[in-house]
Amino acid sequence: MQDIADLYQAVILDHNRRPRNFEEMEHPDRVAVGDNPVCGDHYTVFLKMEGDRIEKATFHGAGCAISKASASVMTSMLKGKTLDEAKAIYQDFHRMVTTGEVSADNLSDLSAFAGVFQFPARIKCATLSWHAALNAAKGSEPEAVTTE
Ligand code: ZN
Repeated sequence: MQDIADLYQAVILDHNRRPRNFEEMEHPDRVAVGDNPVCGDHYTVFLKMEGDRIEKATFHGAGCAISKASASVMTSMLKGKTLDEAKAIYQDFHRMVTTGEVSADNLSDLSAFAGVFQFPARIKCATLSWHAALNAAKGSEPEAVTTE
């Protein structure tokens, strides 16, 4: 078992301190709420769509460093991606945080979360905003997502 301090890579600390796209969007096309009651993470994800392409993603809310940094990196990465591209990145990201295996080169800053697999309770923190964003991108109705 590694020390929990090893989990907090520079990328995570930086995104937690200065989260990107951390604002409520005024006229979003899609909205979803992500809730992780075990940790107390609660975020709303806002998407601006152009067809099935995500033109802009923002988030707002509160939670632990892992959940906030993950949402921050995610909103930066989703910009300009189609729903299918976003799903593909999430699949690689999910495999990485559950197995520690960094296979895909499309993960960029997300690879900072590779250590999460050693702390199973943190996996939900890391994936919460992705669940919410993919849910929002799929449907037009605002929907609450709870990971447990
Ligand atoms: Zn958390």
